[in-house]
Amino acid sequence: MFDKILIANRGEIALRVIRAAREMGIATVAVHSTADADAMHVRMADESVCIGPPPSAQSYLSVPAIISACEISGAQAIHPGYGFLSENAQFVQIVEDHGLTFIGPSAEHIRIMGDKITAKETAKALGIPVVPGSDGAVPDLDAARRIGAEIGYPVIIKATAGGGGRGMKVARNADEMEHAFRTARSEAKAAFGNDEVYIEKYLTTPRHIELQVFGDGKGGAVHLGERDCSLQRRHQKVFEEAPGPCIPPKERDRIGRICADAVARINYIGAGTIEFLYENGAFYFIEMNTRLQVEHPVTETIFGVDLVREQIRVAEGLAMSFTQDDLEINGHAIEVRINAERLPDFTPCPGRITHFHAPGGLGVRMDSALYDGYAIPPYYDSLIGKLIVHGRDRPEALARLNRALGELIVDGIDTTIPLFRALLAEPDIQNGTYNIHWLERWLDENLQK
Ligand code: ADP
Repeated sequence: MFDKILIANRGEIALRVIRAAREMGIATVAVHSTADADAMHVRMADESVCIGPPPSAQSYLSVPAIISACEISGAQAIHPGYGFLSENAQFVQIVEDHGLTFIGPSAEHIRIMGDKITAKETAKALGIPVVPGSDGAVPDLDAARRIGAEIGYPVIIKATAGGGGRGMKVARNADEMEHAFRTARSEAKAAFGNDEVYIEKYLTTPRHIELQVFGDGKGGAVHLGERDCSLQRRHQKVFEEAPGPCIPPKERDRIGRICADAVARINYIGAGTIEFLYENGAFYFIEMNTRLQVEHPVTETIFGVDLVREQIRVAEGLAMSFTQDDLEINGHAIEVRINAERLPDFTPCPGRITHFHAPGGLGVRMDSALYDGYAIPPYYDSLIGKLIVHGRDRPEALARLNRALGELIVDGIDTTIPLFRALLAEPDIQNGTYNIHWLERWLDENLQK
């Protein structure tokens, strides 16, 4: 059993991990940059170590600084949170080489899922449905044309090394192929230093549905249903819910079982998310994230489990504390991401919080590292809090979200709170009838005139 763990992260996710550890009787070590000396995660942890100057490359991403912090503090394991070093296979290897435990999957699994073509091939081999497309990289325009004719237009050309929604081009018909193929290649080269691309059928009105899986590293695994994260701006999620409003229970069980079996077969350890596009009742794999997701609380809420606690347990070599049969959905949960951003163009808006008041009451959870007088540094992500609500059903969760947003006060800076109040008045949000393009279109029509 661990006595002490180090959290290689900041903000709300660092608090999230500290809370789980404390309930398990495990001491915590926070690491921080000089810009975060007064941050809540530093105050809340049992100990803290300053690991460098404000830029993340020299602090939260500095492997030597983090390993030294472990050695100085005597922490036996590292929880990476999300972002930063959470999906860096080389970091995992170094952690293990120092006799420490990484609270997360193996370096090998992170590496496989980090390369888009290998991830897709692996998913396919494990029986997960994938988007029809080229078998691996497409060498030239002739091959691209052949594939376009074979799978049918529209198609999307994607960079093998892609990420963050970059390096993707759509060809709506054969005439557009040449231009799209050449632009995708040159953009991929410019953005990732690698012009390798592959082709997929372009789905026109899909939803983003992701399956939460959890493995014990010994061939045991479960799924915890899906989250619908279709409301996105520039491929960034802003509003997530579970269960998905359009997923019938039978479909959940079917795709859930496929995903759980797949991760069990590779002895996957810890939390993972298998992302799909979902259109006309069919699932199409796009990628797997080998970490805890920002939106994990909606899953925790409807299943009544603590995913961070489970991550720590399996990293210690213990069994998961539940089986598939124990997992039953209770009601509906929604999360909204509160960002320090100014509407209508979502400009980052760091600054001092003059007054902060978190909402409360039945079915309300606020995961945030804010406090009165806190100055949000300009160096990091603009996520400052997550508001998660639980209701017996979707209408109750929506009403509770509206009520809780009304209680939430973040003075001194601009935030995305008004966006969610406006969205809740929309019939498509109330009815759950939206897809991955809905929010961009709504923003164009309502905010960004
Ligand atoms: P990244 O790693 O850059 O985020 P993904 O493969 O996860 O790339 O795709 C990001 C987003 O691009 C998806 O959420 C979806 O909106 C869009 N997209 C990707 N592939 C397709 C596809 N085959 N059809 C339609 N949209 C797609």
